[in-house]
Amino acid sequence: MAQAVVPAMQCQVGAVRARPAAAGAAGRVWGVRRTGRGTSGFRVMAVSTETTGVVTRMEQLLNMDTTPFTDKIIAEYIWVGGTGIDLRSKSRTISKPVEDPSELPKWNYDGSSTGQAPGEDSEVILYPQAIFKDPFRGGNNILVMCDTYTPAGEPIPTNKRNRAAQVFSDPKVVSQVPWFGIEQEYTLLQRDVNWPLGWPVGGYPGPQGPYYCAVGSDKSFGRDISDAHYKACLYAGINISGTNGEVMPGQWEYQVGPSVGIEAGDHIWISRYILERITEQAGVVLTLDPKPIQGDWNGAGCHTNYSTKSMREDGGFEVIKKAILNLSLRHDLHISAYGEGNERRLTGLHETASIDNFSWGVANRGCSIRVGRDTEAKGKGYLEDRRPASNMDPYVVTALLAETTILWEPTLEAEVLAAKKLALKFLENHAAFHSPVNILVEHHT
Ligand code: ADP
Ligand code: MN
Ligand code: MN
Ligand code: MN
Repeated sequence: MAQAVVPAMQCQVGAVRARPAAAGAAGRVWGVRRTGRGTSGFRVMAVSTETTGVVTRMEQLLNMDTTPFTDKIIAEYIWVGGTGIDLRSKSRTISKPVEDPSELPKWNYDGSSTGQAPGEDSEVILYPQAIFKDPFRGGNNILVMCDTYTPAGEPIPTNKRNRAAQVFSDPKVVSQVPWFGIEQEYTLLQRDVNWPLGWPVGGYPGPQGPYYCAVGSDKSFGRDISDAHYKACLYAGINISGTNGEVMPGQWEYQVGPSVGIEAGDHIWISRYILERITEQAGVVLTLDPKPIQGDWNGAGCHTNYSTKSMREDGGFEVIKKAILNLSLRHDLHISAYGEGNERRLTGLHETASIDNFSWGVANRGCSIRVGRDTEAKGKGYLEDRRPASNMDPYVVTALLAETTILWEPTLEAEVLAAKKLALKFLENHAAFHSPVNILVEHHT
């Protein structure tokens, strides 16, 4: 039966060749020729700039529905690599469609090639943890989020999911049903030159202002990528809740959530994987660097909106304030877990708070923690932690938020330490006015 597919495909290739006029310049999307025939949703992602029948034939195979011919499916096993931010994946055949990760076998990979194991004992074991529909292969094929273990069953150091799963299975945390809404910002770069999409190579666009949520070819760069990603995420079963163009041209955001507990981390990691795949096909480079361009250009963050059951119920604002107090006492710990290079972003400018100072406020985007007007008005709701960088690990950030606000109680030491820090800062800020020289200067001006 499978053989019948081949002549049918050849016929279609012939038909496309016979109509070269159908693909004018206007038919090109990212250098891909539109055939004018009914296209599948993801045809736009096809590779190569070639316009011969070879590409069309390849697309036929890539888009081929295998379900009438075999029960077997392809599972793409995905894991976080040795830098803690890179994603790796490889494929395997599974004998029939699955609905739950527990139906999938464990697998392994060469950890010495991902910076995760020594060469002489290189095997790392993949444990399937969450499954999603595969928007690239379609059908019953799946993407599988995995975490990583030694052959003896110990989580390896870059496995942050294991610890997060522990926090999120603690009965105290479970009973608080923690919700996370994560705003993932990212920047698109032109390949080879590593300069933002839409920016003149070797130069700069006009200053920030017209680009946020903008339309128009001189203001919005990469919308097709953002949109393809949006639909692919919906298809996959990711709890994506919106997208917007950002303040810096070439920068975008999407939101995932609210999601409960460990799901937030799984969904962000898979959404990043899908984004990497789409940008790969578009020939554009994705960066999650928190400050891709120095100077008067916004950085990229991963604001984490957070609430517990008691924050969402009447009287919740008091619970939110208590959570903010805990967060203030552990500011340094949180900053150390919120992403590499975040000090380049958290300058106190460009809608950020300084990395050294904890602050919070209602509707204030220059604070570490923002509480929305709505939450204040209703007396319940959620808080927004604006500190996490775009390259943060969502397993680390979500688990730490839950730990600090649900499991941790402020110790006397923590409070004394925080008070000391405040006192020191106060002295630093006011030292200038205490010096006689300055007092003199003040009198003369
Ligand atoms: P911003 O105004 O900061 O740009 P966004 O609209 O981009 O905010 O993102 C807000 C996020 O907060 C969304 O992902 C949304 O799902 C999430 N959210 C809404 N309510 C809650 C809640 N009670 N707890 C946690 N997250 C929430
Ligand atoms: Mn947002
Ligand atoms: Mn944003
Ligand atoms: Mn935000």
